[in-house]
Amino acid sequence: MGQLRKDILRRHSLAAAGVLLFSILYYAGFGIEYGTSPNAWFGAMVLFYLAVHGVTVWYIYSGRAMETADPSMTMPVMALVILYMSGLMILAPELRGVMILGYLNIMPFGVFRLSGRGFIGISLFTVFCYSLVIFSTHYSASELLVPEFEVVIGVALMTSLLVYAFIGREFFILRKAYGEKNSELRRALARIEELAVTDELTGLNNRRYLLKTLEKQRALSIRQEIPFVVAFIDIDYFKRVNDEYGHRIGDQVLAELAHLLRVSVREIDLAARYGGEEFVLLLSGLNLEAASGVLERIRVSVENHRFSEVELEQRVSIGGAEYHPDEASEDVLNRADRMLYEAKRLGRNRVYLEGAQQLSLH
Ligand code: GH3
Ligand code: MG
Ligand code: MG
Repeated sequence: MGQLRKDILRRHSLAAAGVLLFSILYYAGFGIEYGTSPNAWFGAMVLFYLAVHGVTVWYIYSGRAMETADPSMTMPVMALVILYMSGLMILAPELRGVMILGYLNIMPFGVFRLSGRGFIGISLFTVFCYSLVIFSTHYSASELLVPEFEVVIGVALMTSLLVYAFIGREFFILRKAYGEKNSELRRALARIEELAVTDELTGLNNRRYLLKTLEKQRALSIRQEIPFVVAFIDIDYFKRVNDEYGHRIGDQVLAELAHLLRVSVREIDLAARYGGEEFVLLLSGLNLEAASGVLERIRVSVENHRFSEVELEQRVSIGGAEYHPDEASEDVLNRADRMLYEAKRLGRNRVYLEGAQQLSLH
């Protein structure tokens, strides 16, 4: 059960404990000859309270209440307690001065949920119930009503309700602000998490993300025997671009190449910027043979692309290796890197895969 549900149920138990306490007071009042003897009406009230409380707790416990706008069921619970306290006052008019405190005891409950308007609603309901109490007392024990004193009690009750309504409203505003701040923070955190794994210049995932994904891919490969290939891609003679056209154009070339790589691989693959002008592809579910076609296609598409505003021709060298079951992630990375070195050594602009499968020579 979630923490929220536990908190709500604890609050409901508190409300029920309050009701129990006032019921005991009602009994105690009878013991010292205040109030009427607990009769069938009292029994009916207790049963009614227990039934509604039971249903409410079941509704919360089962998780159904969590899907509603107010999982705490604040209004019904407050109304129920107010009704119950009014019932006790009607049954024992002499104890009104004590039972009226029960009205106030349930008010803080609303602090967790009610808006200012909700508090006004519940206050009006309280005033209405209290009027019924006075009305009933007028018939059952009119000697207990002292008009001037009743006015004082009425004013005191309404003042207290008003104070609760204002405090409740303040809490409501605080809670709302807190909620907004919270979702703002959550958005910011999501953004930070995204930035932490994204390369700023190219928008591709960075090395940190690559290494994490590689670990996952490795687990998948071990558990489900899904093969995968790691490929290093490095631009040929990229220094010349920077030297001849400047860093800005160099950056443009990198961003364009990144885009080219991203659209060349499938959803389940990963294209990442490893650093500088080196990129890594993780080709999932492919063995070396299947990957060679994909990598050669990428090499050709780079060759045919004209980069940046100065329409540069660029070439890439690609080295690839397939993951061997049970080896560490960095082992396959190192082997792919060595294949890239081989591709460079053999004259660049080529795909060189482990096992000396040379796929294209120019
Ligand atoms: P090779 O064919 O052997 O790969 O030759 P190369 O000139 O590409 O050599 P190398 O890979 O060692 O060069 C890397 C160069 O890439 C060095 C640096 O000027 C450039 N570079 C690295 N990162 C960036 C970047 O973020 N922006 C720009 N504009 N250039 C970068
Ligand atoms: Mg390099
Ligand atoms: Mg290079």
